[in-house]
Amino acid sequence: MSLAVVHSRARTGVRAPGVRVEVHLAGGLPAMSIVGLPEAAVREAKDRVRAAIQCAQFEFPARRITVNLAPADLPKDGGRYDLAIALGILAASGQLPVDALAEWEFLGELALTGELRDVDGTLAAALAMAGNGRRLLVPPGNGAEAALARDVEVRTARTLLEVCAALEGRKTLPEPQPLPCHAANTPDLADVRGQAHARRALEIAAAGAHHLLLVGPPGSGKTLLASRLGGILPEPTDAEALEAASIAAASRRGLDLLHWRQRPFRAPHHTASAVAMVGGGADPRPGEISLAHHGVLFLDELPEWSRHALEVLREPLESGSVSISRAAHHCDFPARFQLVAAMNPCPCGWAGDPSGRCLCSADAIRRYRARISGPLLERIDLHVEVPRLPPTALRTDDAPGEASAIVRARVVAARARQLARDGIANALLDHTRTNVSCRLAPRDTALLERAVDALQLSARSLHRILRVARTIADLAGSDAIETPHLTEAIGYRKLERGRERAAA
Ligand SMILES: [Zn+2]
Repeated sequence: MSLAVVHSRARTGVRAPGVRVEVHLAGGLPAMSIVGLPEAAVREAKDRVRAAIQCAQFEFPARRITVNLAPADLPKDGGRYDLAIALGILAASGQLPVDALAEWEFLGELALTGELRDVDGTLAAALAMAGNGRRLLVPPGNGAEAALARDVEVRTARTLLEVCAALEGRKTLPEPQPLPCHAANTPDLADVRGQAHARRALEIAAAGAHHLLLVGPPGSGKTLLASRLGGILPEPTDAEALEAASIAAASRRGLDLLHWRQRPFRAPHHTASAVAMVGGGADPRPGEISLAHHGVLFLDELPEWSRHALEVLREPLESGSVSISRAAHHCDFPARFQLVAAMNPCPCGWAGDPSGRCLCSADAIRRYRARISGPLLERIDLHVEVPRLPPTALRTDDAPGEASAIVRARVVAARARQLARDGIANALLDHTRTNVSCRLAPRDTALLERAVDALQLSARSLHRILRVARTIADLAGSDAIETPHLTEAIGYRKLERGRERAAA
């Protein structure tokens, strides 16, 4: 047999498309050519593979060797295919049984000594293999990550020799185990005293996966509240946690294997660029919005953000994903995040405070708020004022707030109602389903129309009010949306009203 086929996987963004490594041996002058990789990567792969085969005491065939990596539009990084190429050469030259290769996929860079070196994207590869019946072989350092995908049998090997011994049935390779996942160490809502209105909004946001804007003076507890959202959200499903983990694994920092089961909480600084937010680069990496997938994206000091960095959020806020196009690649990254934004009410931060210390002009306040575009504001379901508390409410002998565990139980019950009814959280309902699941009594329809008129809201805002009202009804355990649920939901669009007045 002078032809061998070995299975491997590429990494493009968070995907791991399958790659066929075809090795053909022919007569003629000894030479090796690799098709499907750029020049520099080919040269390096050739040298490593030749040295590794020789170090392992195999014979490097003195024939014309052609290696084809299919499909041809592959990422530049050639190292991850080294092991597959070496095995293909050994099988095509009769030094390894060809049949044994069919039930495996291989990932790993070869050192000149024949040792396997770690590569990236092994979790994505393992997830992509679900149901194809093959086993995955990875270097030892990638074992714990790949093993998170429980549907696929993963094995590790330290050297090319070990892999060959296993393929010949002379050795059993170890099966890596995922590391024990540490419990979430999220701060508790009990630390937040007072702020009943904002706590209520946080609970509604958690129950229906709604976006939330907190408006209040410095030190009123906006960041404190936002950081507690993760602790009252329902546990992610296995599929959600794995999806988020494979995105983290594709980032430059990599995956935190001890905390991968937690919902992400990302809080980028307001100086972050648009690329840092949505991702990019020559070898596209996920940005903050993708790293917050199935978790929370917290944007503090919202008016301080560059207009561009905020505008690029609009499309992902609707679609739940972001497309990045570069010369060589096109990548789609998932970005289904829950947005929590915070801002001061005015440039000095004290507008509306009873102390009267705000001296900002109406014009300055209007300009400040206009830095957040209407379309972005419109996409945030809940706008909540977080006032500074009078000193008595901050005294430590006051009763602590309700604990996260208690609030979370209500959130989980309300979310379960949504999943039973629509299969998704209320915030994700499309227009058609909103009209079905958020039906109002006739007098409430009239009430909503009057409110939309008075606040000059768009059709988009109207649908968002309906979905928030649905969540409030779900928290109350009510099948129908009642008038108080609707009026409470309308009350969370206050900032838009303020905006219209300021603009008038
Ligand atoms: Zn002010």
